[in-house]
Amino acid sequence: MSNEVDVIVIGLGPGGESVATELAQAGLEVVGIDKHLVGGECPYYGCVPTKMMIRAADLLQEGRRISGMAGDSTVTADWAPVAQRITDEATDHWDDTVAVERLEDAGVRFVRGHGRLVGPREVEVDGETFVARRGVLLNTGTEPGVPPIAGLDETPYWTNRDAVKLEQLPGSLIVIGGGAIGAELAQAFARFGVRVTVLEVAERILAPEEPEASAIVTKAFADEGIQVLTGVTIESVKHTDGQFSVEVGDQVLAAEKLLVAAGRRTNLGDIGLDTVGLDPQARSLDTDEHMQVSDGLWAIGDITGKGAFTHMSMYQASIAAKAILDVTDAPAADYRAVPRVTFTDPEVGSVGMTEEQARDDGLDVRVGCVDLASSSRGWIHKSGNAGLVKLVEDAAAGVLVGATAVGPSGGEILSALTVAVHARVPTSTLASMIYAYPTFHRAIEDALKDLAS
Ligand SMILES: Cc1cc2nc3c(=O)[nH]c(=O)nc-3n(C[C@H](O)[C@H](O)[C@H](O)COP(=O)(O)OP(=O)(O)OC[C@H]3O[C@@H](n4cnc5c(N)ncnc54)[C@H](O)[C@@H]3O)c2cc1C
Repeated sequence: MSNEVDVIVIGLGPGGESVATELAQAGLEVVGIDKHLVGGECPYYGCVPTKMMIRAADLLQEGRRISGMAGDSTVTADWAPVAQRITDEATDHWDDTVAVERLEDAGVRFVRGHGRLVGPREVEVDGETFVARRGVLLNTGTEPGVPPIAGLDETPYWTNRDAVKLEQLPGSLIVIGGGAIGAELAQAFARFGVRVTVLEVAERILAPEEPEASAIVTKAFADEGIQVLTGVTIESVKHTDGQFSVEVGDQVLAAEKLLVAAGRRTNLGDIGLDTVGLDPQARSLDTDEHMQVSDGLWAIGDITGKGAFTHMSMYQASIAAKAILDVTDAPAADYRAVPRVTFTDPEVGSVGMTEEQARDDGLDVRVGCVDLASSSRGWIHKSGNAGLVKLVEDAAAGVLVGATAVGPSGGEILSALTVAVHARVPTSTLASMIYAYPTFHRAIEDALKDLAS
């Protein structure tokens, strides 16, 4: 078999797997390389297993909400079915045989190993060199980032990769990081009875989101007994006699386990970027609107720094595939309306710019914000109804440039708002629409009235 092919894909996260498949199905000779599991972080350690945990945790919480609304309930949490579902249904015991077969059936030649550029259009995997006629696509993704805290490296701390493999839950847990991953896991474990403390260096959890969204989630966490400490400096971490001690300012917090969820580190350090004239210290790769980094080199997914989401990796995959196939009128990447959802309860869905980002961008900003709990549906829903809809308008253009929906279905309400931002639907048109009664998304109409007032 010749080692000269059309395209080499290094890293088969969701996007890499998709590009490799599309190109092979279009008739190109494609080599796909992954050092671990085909499909990447999302199916094995990220989105899918964590959302299974959250689904289970939300069921428990809904059970607890029965009291006072529909009778009485006694909820007994059991982690075993969650662990089993993740192992059997989500990850197939962290075995990618099915994904590899799917890839090979599509015509991709799969190589397991660490891929590294050794020059333009040349890649080495464990001593074997491949040459690409059209080029190389990088989709090497991220690893858990570990902050430089004294003593941390010497302890058996967990990352998301350990958290999704748990068969038994600890009694207590400290979570370093109150971003989307930390917040989701903290709440899921707490709902199963784990005593959870979240440590966040920023002044609020979910710091990239609107402050109003952070405030609602912080209150929900407090109501559920999750301790949240913000603006903290973590001095050191120790592990002795099966117990973690975390020194935070002048207090020492103790817990059975420690989960580090303090951001992600891009896998760019050991892929030979210097051999193609790129900075090997780069934290992300600059790409043009067709995902091209340089002649014969494309990049997609978390390493492009445009949003670490599976939907971003897949979106960019589709653009890169068309570019590599030289499709006439190949689509160009447009990042104005990137949706993101934090699957806490309440869910936080947002798209585009926050109010602060829009103001920093120099826009003439108008904002509309309504409380979801006092909307018709929120009032009917009652227990667990906290939320809001916040709209950010570029008043000069009369279009939304950002929006946030927090609530029981925040991520679903978001879809209408994403259309509005993406398609630049005038706010006057949005205000003239009919919104079904009594839905949560009907709060958008009230937020538009607030915007106009
Ligand atoms: C806990 C958690 C929850 C998440 N939840 C969500 C969610 O709900 N929704 C959402 O949209 N996103 C979520 N994400 C983010 C999502 O998982 C990623 O954005 C997604 O996996 C896309 O990443 P990627 O395509 O850049 O590559 P990755 O999925 O990171 O995959 C990269 C692949 O490259 C391989 N690789 C790396 N270097 C090399 C090399 N040199 N040679 C060969 N192979 C290599 C790796 O083994 C891996 O298979 C979550 C992430 C985490 C950690």
